[in-house]
Amino acid sequence: MTATASGATASGATASDTAPAAAHFRFFALEVLRTRRLGHSFLRVTFGGESLSGFRSGGYDQSLSLFLPPAHQEHTVLPSTDEDTWFAAWRAMPDEERPVMRSYTVREQRRTPGGADEVDIDFVLHGDASPASQWAGRAVTGRRIMAIGPAVAENKSVRFQPPAGTDALLMYADETALPAAAAILDRLPAGTRVAAWFEVPHADDRLALPTLADADITWIVRERGAGKERTERVLEALRAAELPVAEAPYAWLAGEAGTIRAVRRHVVQERSIDRRAVRFTGYWRLGASEEELLAEAYAGQAASEEPSSEL
Ligand SMILES: Cc1cc2nc3c(=O)[nH]c(=O)nc-3n(C[C@H](O)[C@H](O)[C@H](O)COP(=O)(O)OP(=O)(O)OC[C@H]3O[C@@H](n4cnc5c(N)ncnc54)[C@H](O)[C@@H]3O)c2cc1C
Repeated sequence: MTATASGATASGATASDTAPAAAHFRFFALEVLRTRRLGHSFLRVTFGGESLSGFRSGGYDQSLSLFLPPAHQEHTVLPSTDEDTWFAAWRAMPDEERPVMRSYTVREQRRTPGGADEVDIDFVLHGDASPASQWAGRAVTGRRIMAIGPAVAENKSVRFQPPAGTDALLMYADETALPAAAAILDRLPAGTRVAAWFEVPHADDRLALPTLADADITWIVRERGAGKERTERVLEALRAAELPVAEAPYAWLAGEAGTIRAVRRHVVQERSIDRRAVRFTGYWRLGASEEELLAEAYAGQAASEEPSSEL
């Protein structure tokens, strides 16, 4: 059994990723090295730690599961990181002591000239009432957390998998998926045709997105046009757009679950993109914490032998 095979998913809403192949994922101890504000809503936390020498991000939208301590504790304490026993031990902890498990994206992994490994994670700060957002907002150098992350670069938590022959990409991301979209754009070969819609809360969340791709990016800024229902605003922008002419387009969609469902419907039904060429992931859901999404995922798995969909 591997670290995530016990039923805890590496990405909350994505119960299909609960059983990656042996040794693809394991625990890592991460220490905050520094933080940097990137925009109104984004805080980059750069982590280091000796165990990162075994960390192997697959790039693109590589995700990992973070274990963040309750507000009254400085560091994450887990009773076990043994692959067979950690999950039961973590679940058995008293509520007020149990670290929360949250899904995040590896924005970048790099080796410094001195040979140390570093990992950047870009957190959306969406308020002090939510554990992960609160933790990030208060993160200081030296804080230690735990993560279940990739030990091999080819792993199931890299969802961006365009089939061979793909001749254009269509991307939609809200702010939680912007780090993943940015990491995808980082890696695309020169000339790749991309039509992208990125939705962010504030104008200064429109981060620079270096890429060699031929990317046509439309920003949807929520502070403008306030009052419109968020999904409707995204659909309006998509409907107004001309997509690149393509034989084999691939769509990658990630963000708030309700919006993602609507955008998927749009690209499949109104844009006739083959549903098998659409990768869609609900990164969070309005009104539901990640615990609630996990509880649904467990219930879905218990009711069916089939892994549940990503929303
Ligand atoms: C594969 C994957 C990769 C992800 N990568 C990133 C990433 O790189 N950066 C990132 O910031 N997030 C990322 N997320 C989303 C992140 O896991 C969720 O936003 C998570 O709910 C945050 O935990 P929390 O403790 O702050 O809020 P929770 O306790 O889970 O939720 C509390 C409340 O806040 C709401 N909420 C959650 N997120 C937001 C938000 N962003 N804005 C407004 N309300 C919100 C919920 O609907 C709920 O009502 C990713 C999710 C997945 C599945």
